[in-house]
Amino acid sequence: MNESSSTESCVVVGAGPAGMMLAYLLARSGVEVTLLESHRDFDRDFRGDSLHPYTLELLDALGLAERLLELPHFPARLFRLHTPHGTLTTADYGKLRTRFNYVALMPQARFLDFLAAEAAWLPAFTLRMGAKVNGLVQDEAGRVTGVRFRDELGEHERASSLVIGADGRFSKVRRLAEIPAHPLGASSDLLWFRLPRHDDDPPEADVDLYFGSDHYVGLLGGPTDWQVGYALPKGDYAVARAAGPAPIRDFVAGHVPWLADRVHLLRDFAQTTLLSVDIARVDTWHRPGLLLIGDAAHVIPPWAATAS
Ligand SMILES: Cc1cc2nc3c(=O)[nH]c(=O)nc-3n(C[C@H](O)[C@H](O)[C@H](O)COP(=O)(O)OP(=O)(O)OC[C@H]3O[C@@H](n4cnc5c(N)ncnc54)[C@H](O)[C@@H]3O)c2cc1C
Repeated sequence: MNESSSTESCVVVGAGPAGMMLAYLLARSGVEVTLLESHRDFDRDFRGDSLHPYTLELLDALGLAERLLELPHFPARLFRLHTPHGTLTTADYGKLRTRFNYVALMPQARFLDFLAAEAAWLPAFTLRMGAKVNGLVQDEAGRVTGVRFRDELGEHERASSLVIGADGRFSKVRRLAEIPAHPLGASSDLLWFRLPRHDDDPPEADVDLYFGSDHYVGLLGGPTDWQVGYALPKGDYAVARAAGPAPIRDFVAGHVPWLADRVHLLRDFAQTTLLSVDIARVDTWHRPGLLLIGDAAHVIPPWAATAS
């Protein structure tokens, strides 16, 4: 089915933080924008749960921060590395001269729900969930002029003066546009799981990495639990799985002693989620009629996202 649109319209592919934010900003400026998201909801676990001071300032400039921060979140003021030789504070957000002198830890799904609800008030904004882009429309000169996508009603084609690929690290749009992404050498993967937070846990343990000789573990504090990321050498998932949760429990108990009383709650490998860490970028972010943003254009490792 061909779908008409005004000449000054944009299609954004992917309603992650990059696509959702850009679609909101475009619609707020009066540009007609259609945001296509292949999933039916925003539920994603262990993803980009930190909103940094600068992001909060930007949201504040847009008049969004106050309402957003009414949602449950945890303010983290320190980013620290604990090594066998001592502790290094790499960022003390509390020293920033801003009202937002902390990192707000909030599930990405809630942040996306919030932005989607704000954007829904804008007449120029359309969000289509369950809409999976599978093709680019191009004119004879090779300019991208629209997308093809599939939803529960069938195949559609939508014209657009600009297509923005914000469809994440495995970007279909990037592949369709034949723009190569260059890997920059990730050396580890992460296994994420949760452990409950107790009232008497160290209050200052906010965003912390604990290093051993061959592994490290990262902690993100939430209002009710700790998100724990156990780093594996890249490609070692099968080896770790075969070994089961015991080595992970031992590492966490050995390096984060105040969690030793609850590591037994990690009973089964099925409680963990593997996140393959990538570091990659494209050389060219655009082609006539097409732009790549977010992870589709550049993927950074989680520790860099958290520290930045
Ligand atoms: C383990 C881990 C922890 C992280 N922690 C942090 C953190 O603490 N702080 C931080 O700032 N960042 C963090 N990041 C990075 C952050 O999650 C990503 O950088 C961010 O989600 C990228 O946003 P994005 O919008 O570019 O892509 P994504 O969030 O990947 O969103 C892409 C969207 O496109 C959709 N999509 C894909 N293909 C199609 C298609 N064909 N058609 C339509 N839709 C499609 C997907 O369903 C998805 O919703 C972390 C990343 C990882 C891996």
